[in-house]
Amino acid sequence: MEKSKVLIVGGTGYIGKRMVRASLAQGHETFVLHRPEIGVDIEKVQLLLSFKEQGARLVSGSFQDHQSLVNAVKLVDVVICAISGVHIRSHQILLQLKLVDAIKEAGNVKRFLPSEFGTDPARMSHALDPGRVTFDDKMVIRKAVEKAGIPFTYISSNIFAGYFLGGLCQPGFLIPSTESVVLFGDGNVKAIFVDEDDIAMYTIKTIDDPRTLNKTVYIRPPKNILSQREVVQIWEKLIGKELQKSSISEEQFLSSMGGQSYAQSVAMVHYYHICFEGCLTNFEIGEEGVEACELYPQIKYTTVEEYMKRYV
Ligand code: NDP
Repeated sequence: MEKSKVLIVGGTGYIGKRMVRASLAQGHETFVLHRPEIGVDIEKVQLLLSFKEQGARLVSGSFQDHQSLVNAVKLVDVVICAISGVHIRSHQILLQLKLVDAIKEAGNVKRFLPSEFGTDPARMSHALDPGRVTFDDKMVIRKAVEKAGIPFTYISSNIFAGYFLGGLCQPGFLIPSTESVVLFGDGNVKAIFVDEDDIAMYTIKTIDDPRTLNKTVYIRPPKNILSQREVVQIWEKLIGKELQKSSISEEQFLSSMGGQSYAQSVAMVHYYHICFEGCLTNFEIGEEGVEACELYPQIKYTTVEEYMKRYV
């Protein structure tokens, strides 16, 4: 079967750049949207040029120019959107709705992957404010995609490892302490940690796979379904030292929220649902979903222990 041509929107972003690389690595003709708005952002421009050197095609297109998006979409079979989440808040809805309109008008797209890549928003209608905005926004996009009859795959990739493993699951930290850690309650709630490059690799695998058409794909590497306590144990083994442990209760955590920036408050709510409620692991995948490691057992994913070696 011929491999689909892919357009990545948001290709210079944290997860987007990995999508570009994975798409090229898996032999897809890969197009990356180059927005004129990035102007003289030298880092982005250099990154785009490096994609070109690796074989990608840069396509000029702007969210302010509907026809340019339609033209970009017409070049490909699959569109992957990886634009940012909370820091551009309602922007994300607006921008993605524009992309959905362009895909609808172009009429040629066999698969659209909206910017999801986290907790399954369909299971988060109970989420607390203000963090629920992430899930509510993503549901608005899902509804628009489905209403437009666009074939889709939703990627529920669970946690980007760097965000949680780096801080031993503590908000506000990206490098693990060698001294101490604060546990969420007893620290025994399970979460799912996924290497960001693996997320991209599994995502690209799904795009030509009929088993993932109009499904949610959950990425649940079996060895990476761990509690915070287990993550800490792995770290302790790597550094050969036991950390001092204290604990924060659910009530204390909730009352500590406030006085932060909007983006920080949103993130705190996500930590709450993941680390106290166990929202990533407290359900079985149903008829609407499939699991990536079962679909692609040939992929050797990065384990939490392997990932954490970089911090030693
Ligand atoms: P980034 O913040 O890295 O941004 C990605 C891209 O969004 C940028 O490179 C840019 O694309 C585009 N973008 C940003 N602002 C604008 C704007 N005003 N107009 C148009 N495009 C804009 O995103 P992430 O990689 O952090 O997030 C991608 C997805 O992953 C989101 O859906 C987010 O919710 C999710 N996520 C999941 C996490 C997890 O742990 N599971 C953690 C973090 C995010 P361009 O290349 O065109 O400049």
